[in-house]
Amino acid sequence: MSAESAAGAFQPNYVGRFAPSPTGSLHLGSLLAAVGSFVDARHHGGRWLVRMEDLDTARVVPGCADEMLRALEAFGLHWDGAIEYQSTRKHHYLEALTRLSERNLSYRCSCTRAERSAQGGYPGTCRSGARLTGPTATRFRVADEPVRFADRVQGECVFDLRQLGDVVVRRRDGTFAYQLAVVVDDGLQGVTDVVRGADLLDNTPWQLALQRALDLPTPRYAHLPLVVEPRAGKLAKSRRSLPLVPAHASVLLHEVLTLLGQAPTAELKSELPERILAWATGHWNLDAVAGIREVRAP
Ligand code: GLU
Repeated sequence: MSAESAAGAFQPNYVGRFAPSPTGSLHLGSLLAAVGSFVDARHHGGRWLVRMEDLDTARVVPGCADEMLRALEAFGLHWDGAIEYQSTRKHHYLEALTRLSERNLSYRCSCTRAERSAQGGYPGTCRSGARLTGPTATRFRVADEPVRFADRVQGECVFDLRQLGDVVVRRRDGTFAYQLAVVVDDGLQGVTDVVRGADLLDNTPWQLALQRALDLPTPRYAHLPLVVEPRAGKLAKSRRSLPLVPAHASVLLHEVLTLLGQAPTAELKSELPERILAWATGHWNLDAVAGIREVRAP
């Protein structure tokens, strides 16, 4: 029996979450993350929160958050409690930033985008002081050590933090960065389990390091396979990037569960979304995607 199935299903303290950025409609990949985190939470008898990661105002699309919430409801993905919007929580991120600075774990960086991209991972050029005057970003000073964690899907993961480099926690335009906000919110919202797409696997070491630096608990992580294009090179027209039609909710839920290796029966396609999700909750088996980084959309 695998570690996953031996763990036992009922964990009353389980708190999961889906944390979309309202920068475009839900697509097959984001639906897969939403369904995976929802079903995993319900399977463990846990709560499931929805948090709108709307800090990047240049990319946020007006009306998108509401459209996403309506879509989640149409898909039977009913959340617990109130929706949190990161744009209303900036005082928390500022507090965390102050704590990092007090602990000498952050510094101001004046490097331009061009300077950074020339070098791959950020080499710490401004560690001993910003070199230029004018607006600066703030970076988190990472330790020179490996970060290890046991991902529930991807298994044992090891990353070299120093190679990943010091990550931006506040951009030069004053926007709090994703890495900081996600860690603060997962901590303050009592999230015990992060279930999300494997595109964020290599962000996880920064998040673990930030949790440690901010005295926040580290949740369990499960990085689900990423949905890739049916054929390479067709990104713009792909199913993955197409917005989902809530009228096709049952068929799409069936498709996502199939991609997650859950083998839903064909009859489920004509059931209501809530019935399909109830079936998935009862039959949930994360081992079906163990070690899988990518799945191809049909
Ligand atoms: N907001 C992030 C995104 O849409 C996801 C954050 C997370 O799940 O940690 O890619």
